[in-house]
Amino acid sequence: MSARDEYRYARLSWPEVNEAVELGKVVLLPTGSTEQHGPHLPLDTDAFLCESVCLEAGRRAPDRVLVLPPVPYGLNLHHMDFPGTVHIEPETFVAFCLDVAKSVAYHGFEKLLIVNGHGSNAPLVELVARKTVLQTRSLCAAVSYLQLALEAFGRVRDTSVTAHADELETSLYLYLAAERVRMDRAVAGEDVRGRYLSSDSTPDYPVRFSDVWSRWTRTGVHGDPTSASAEKGRVAFEAAVTGLLELVEEWRSWPVGERSDQHSRPPEHPIRW
Ligand SMILES: [Zn+2]
Repeated sequence: MSARDEYRYARLSWPEVNEAVELGKVVLLPTGSTEQHGPHLPLDTDAFLCESVCLEAGRRAPDRVLVLPPVPYGLNLHHMDFPGTVHIEPETFVAFCLDVAKSVAYHGFEKLLIVNGHGSNAPLVELVARKTVLQTRSLCAAVSYLQLALEAFGRVRDTSVTAHADELETSLYLYLAAERVRMDRAVAGEDVRGRYLSSDSTPDYPVRFSDVWSRWTRTGVHGDPTSASAEKGRVAFEAAVTGLLELVEEWRSWPVGERSDQHSRPPEHPIRW
């Protein structure tokens, strides 16, 4: 085993980390949640699905990918009325993930990718990526693995809503670990919808809004998991892994340019951000 064959960041020894930097590996940080996912899915759904996609990408391209241990918690206060949910304050989440990203940048990795599996983390991981770019010499971007699967899933899906504990997430879990899915308890759920607003704004709504979930659902499901299947999950999983690997290739060849100062007078260097 060498740095070229190992795709799990934490399995490397420190000399192998130097080798991995030389190989120009892209470092993936999976982010998820520990959160209610209806009566039929485990609390680890977001974290497990997201890490599974990242690890499979690593298995297929161990010479180009390194997968960090995942962050299994996220912004979840809006789910707190459902037992089991763990909430991390957004400021804490951003600070924690930024420290992870800066540590990786410190050791010389130039390309970081936050792979997110929990919708409410989306604005936060984008912020972490921006802050990493502005505070280090490395480049960091953020992506939702679900976005990478949507086009392919669109060809096999039976229901239209992509939200939470829905046809997509349930299909993925059925494909990866069917024994942990209680399909006999799966029920469909719908949020309150207006023209501009919905109480759990899915991407097709122009206004971003997320109400406290217990105000509009008793099951914690948004979408319809009853038509989920392992085969649909296989299609979505394959598309997510393939898309992630294509993204890794693009990211690896993305140039890290030099900054150039355009001031006619020397800038005010004592001012630091
Ligand atoms: Zn989820």
